[in-house]
Formats: sequence, C-alpha cells, structure tokens
Amino acid sequence: MEKVIIIGSGCAGLTAAIYAARADLSPIVLDGYEPGGQLALTTLVENFPGFPDGILGPELVENARKQAQRFGTEFRAGAVTAADLSKRPFKITAGNETYETETLIVAAGASARMLGIESEKHLLGHGVSTCATCDGFFFRGKDIVVVGGGDTAMEEATFLTKFARTVTLLHRRNEFRATKIMLDRARANEKIRFMTPYVIDEVHDVDKNNVEKVSLRNVETGETNELETSGVFVAIGHDPNTKVFKGQLDMNNDGYLLTHDGPKTNIPGVFAAGDVQDHNYRQAITAAGSGCMAAIEAERFLSGHKA
Ligand code: NAP
Repeated sequence: MEKVIIIGSGCAGLTAAIYAARADLSPIVLDGYEPGGQLALTTLVENFPGFPDGILGPELVENARKQAQRFGTEFRAGAVTAADLSKRPFKITAGNETYETETLIVAAGASARMLGIESEKHLLGHGVSTCATCDGFFFRGKDIVVVGGGDTAMEEATFLTKFARTVTLLHRRNEFRATKIMLDRARANEKIRFMTPYVIDEVHDVDKNNVEKVSLRNVETGETNELETSGVFVAIGHDPNTKVFKGQLDMNNDGYLLTHDGPKTNIPGVFAAGDVQDHNYRQAITAAGSGCMAAIEAERFLSGHKA
C-alpha cells in the first residue's frame, strides 16, 4: 500500500514528488506517455525564475527528477490504463502493475494537439512550437505562421505580433471557431494576415533542423504553394489526459479536471495539479506551484486519516 501515487512526471508531478518525498511519504511517480511532460519537448526556457540565462526544458525536468529521487521518490515507467477511485485505497493500473494508494495526485498534463505530419515532430523545439508565451521571444523581427481557427490561435497570433515582423494565420476553414471579440482583435492587427482555407502539408527543412518554409494546400481548390517562414506555432487546442477518470472525477466539457480549494477534486484524497486542471495559464511555474499545493494537501489528508 502506497501513501501517495503521482500520475505524470512533468513540472507539476515532479514538484509534487519533491514535496511529498521531503514529507516522508515515499511517493511513486508513474511516468506516463511523455516522461518530463511538455517541457521535455521544448528547447530554451527563459521564464522560469532562478535561471537568469535560461535553461533547456529537458535539463530543467531532469534536474527536478534527480531532486525528487534524492529524497526517495521512485519512478515507474508506463501510462495509466485504469483507475478505480470508488473507495480507498484507490487502485491504479499502469503497465502490468496495479497499485493501491491512500492518496492520489493526478498531474497527467494536457497534450498539445499536433497537425500529424512527420516533419513537425522533428522540428518541434527547432522552429515548431505549441506555446507562444514560451517561444515567441525567439522570433523577434521574423515572419512566422500560426495554425488554428479558435481562440488560442487568435490569442497567440496577437501575442506574437509583439515580436514577429509578420504573422500569417492559417486555418483549414473559412469560418472561425474563435469568439467574435478575439477574431476581431486579430483581424484589426496590421501585422496579422489571414489565409484560409489552407492546411500545411510539410514543414521544411528537417535536414537543416530549422524551419525555413511550409508547403501549403488550399483545401477547396487543391492548389499548392510554399510560404517562407521562420517559425510555425501550432495552436489547434490541447487534450487533457483524463480519459481513465471519466465518470469518477468531475471535469468540464473539454475534459479538464475541476478542482476546488486549490488542488482538491470531488473525491477526498484525490488531488489534481498542472495542465490537467488548468487550460488557462499552462505555464511550467504555475504547474510547479499547483504540484506543491497538491503534495501539501495530500500530506494534510494523510495526517487527518491516520489509522
Ligand atoms: P478549439 O476552440 O478547439 O479550436 C481549435 C482550432 O484548431 C479549430 O479552429 C480547429 O479547426 C483547428 N484544428 C483542430 N485540429 C486541426 C488540425 N488537425 N489541423 C488544422 N486545424 C485544426 O481550441 P482552442 O482555440 O485551444 O480553445 C479551447 C477553449 O479555450 C475554447 O473554449 C476557447 O474559447 C478557450 N480559450 C479562451 C481564450 C480566451 O478567452 N482568452 C483563449 C484561448 C482559449 P475547425 O474549426 O475546422 O475544427
């Protein structure tokens, strides 16, 4: 029987692990599909306090992982395939193992939706990004592309005009899912050019490990062309990793876990931290903060439920 199991090893999960381990709770972290979370997929992180020259995302999570290990955290590979939260101890299945735990911290994150083309995977962190707040700064004076037709795409395109010389917003339909106010704001921005209905077929140049241009296709006419660009921001939404908790943990229509009083879910003893419960801020530092809160609440819960 474990005292605390943490699902997810991104910034939220690792911070929860550091705090839980230092509280002598011997946490087990289940790594999930993307060990290290979204930071493991980025390059330079310049907005995490304490690193005046920035730090590479993978290095930041590796450091946090070692820090959690130093205090006794155990890491197990494998994604969670089943969870029974109907009574305590909670039962969590990952890989071939089923764990029993008195408390659970869900820090499984949200995965950015990707376009699904091979070149985008190779160039992620090398000109392809899923986070304007994180990477916009690197595109000062450059021409860039934002993909998407929702509020995130409008928000990111508008934000990116602070740095970029021009922003081309590509969307696969002529109609937009974005709210009128966000769309109008983007349309009124002189630096933003709209191109519809277009999709990206390829991002170049994988061999140079750098974004130089994209191949575009008009989905109505089938016409293809190329557009020179230094960066591609994929802003087509996120999917929280909460499928196994459906019907057990309260979530909103998009699948994000609902929390109250900080990291508490509707089930006492189950806490949520990081992007899995936050579609608003989605920052490493806010994820880390909520991971800390979840571990402190797990410790308090265990103190109040001593046998
Ligand atoms: P979203 O509303 O689901 O929009 C995703 C957009 O990406 C859609 O336009 C969709 O096109 C496009 N898309 C999806 N898959 C694609 C693919 N494979 N290739 C090309 N395009 C693709 O997601 P979101 O913009 O992230 O917004 C999520 C929620 O957060 C919304 O409720 C939104 O209002 C909210 N939000 C609010 C704010 C704000 O108020 N400040 C900011 C950001 C987000 P189709 O339209 O053709 O499906």
